[in-house]
Amino acid sequence: MSTAARLKEHACAAIERNAAEIEAFSEDVMRHPELGFAEFATAARFGARLDRLGLPVRTGLARTGVKAVMRGRGPGPCVALIGELDAVSLPAHPLADPATGAAHACGHNAQLASVAGAALGLSEVMSELDGTVVLLAAPAEEMGDAGRYFDTAPHEGVEFPVGKAELLRVGAFDDVDMALLVHSGRGGGPRFSVGDSLNGAAVVRARFHGRSAHAGSSPWLGVNALKAATTAAHALDAQRETFPDDHDVRLNYLLSGDDGTLGSVPAVATLQVMARSRCTDGLRGAVAAVTRAARAGALALGARVEIDTLLGYLPLTSAPALDDIVERNAHRVVGATGATRGRHLGACTDMGDLGHVMPVSHPYSGGAVGGHHSVDYRVEDHRAAAVEPARYLADTVIDLLADGAFGARRVLREAGPRMSVPEYLALRRAMSNHEIWEDA
Ligand SMILES: [Zn+2]
Ligand SMILES: [Zn+2]
Repeated sequence: MSTAARLKEHACAAIERNAAEIEAFSEDVMRHPELGFAEFATAARFGARLDRLGLPVRTGLARTGVKAVMRGRGPGPCVALIGELDAVSLPAHPLADPATGAAHACGHNAQLASVAGAALGLSEVMSELDGTVVLLAAPAEEMGDAGRYFDTAPHEGVEFPVGKAELLRVGAFDDVDMALLVHSGRGGGPRFSVGDSLNGAAVVRARFHGRSAHAGSSPWLGVNALKAATTAAHALDAQRETFPDDHDVRLNYLLSGDDGTLGSVPAVATLQVMARSRCTDGLRGAVAAVTRAARAGALALGARVEIDTLLGYLPLTSAPALDDIVERNAHRVVGATGATRGRHLGACTDMGDLGHVMPVSHPYSGGAVGGHHSVDYRVEDHRAAAVEPARYLADTVIDLLADGAFGARRVLREAGPRMSVPEYLALRRAMSNHEIWEDA
């Protein structure tokens, strides 16, 4: 029997001995949902699990993040296992917190349990691994109401709207070489899938400022901000087919008159756009189109427009060499699923940000019912969503760090160079912008 096979048997036995407790932890987190950057109780629950393993635990990273380090017998690469702390803002969900509207409609509860479970297994075998394992609970994957980030950061000390960007900014990934996160899949999906790419996203808010006037007696004295905003929306729609097919651009917008009454010309109106694309160039192109459209609306009506752009997520591309190892181990645990590899999904994740800095893998588990972010979504089978991922996460770490960490070194070699953290932060800041435009 190879070293890795023997260590996997050991780790697996420890996880299975604690399977009921791992499932109960996933259920417990699901029943106590919290919103991004405010997941204090969830972070404490996760920290308590790591305490029991005797690990030194750091808390309060990017407000609520939790991190512990498990060291092997000698130096080597560092693999992070990540779980997300936050729930979705979805007050209509049956398990929503009545005070905050938070509900685990994205299944992040199972991620934390899978990381805690993998840690239990790995704690038995770390003395035979070459390298380090970081266990990390990350805040605020769901961007939620992006609009609130435009005027003032809603949380003290937070610069970016998503947790992993903040964790990168505060140096929480400085010692990490690669990262894995198992997300629960959609209801009716396969028990395991890997290798999907996901869109990036930016939010643009255009606030049109006109002039109010009596809508009946003297409308010519007004400047109709709502018509400027609808003109901008038409100008945006006119550009939809100008985006290259392979950029997978999606544009969703909300239009609102802020001070409208039927009796007066609206003086303020807002067009808010979520632009998504599978590549950074596509995101830049979509943001440029929104910006032109906003200026065009203002120009047509003689209004002034204030345009704020905020980068939400960078697109996700996972590392095939890392996906291969996770897939092999997952198939050993759950059997072959026949899932298609390498689909492109329209949703976003801040694992995309991390993937610009290091090799990442972002597989999906089974165990949930309903569609992500909908009122019927929840993890139902915690074994499929938490215990099975705990096993293949532990097995993957063993393949990466056993025998001189040959596996991890090969992943790093095949993934090639990535951005440095300062380069990533500069890109993120360059893609956010504030401008006031008015026809001279
Ligand atoms: Zn989500
Ligand atoms: Zn999610």
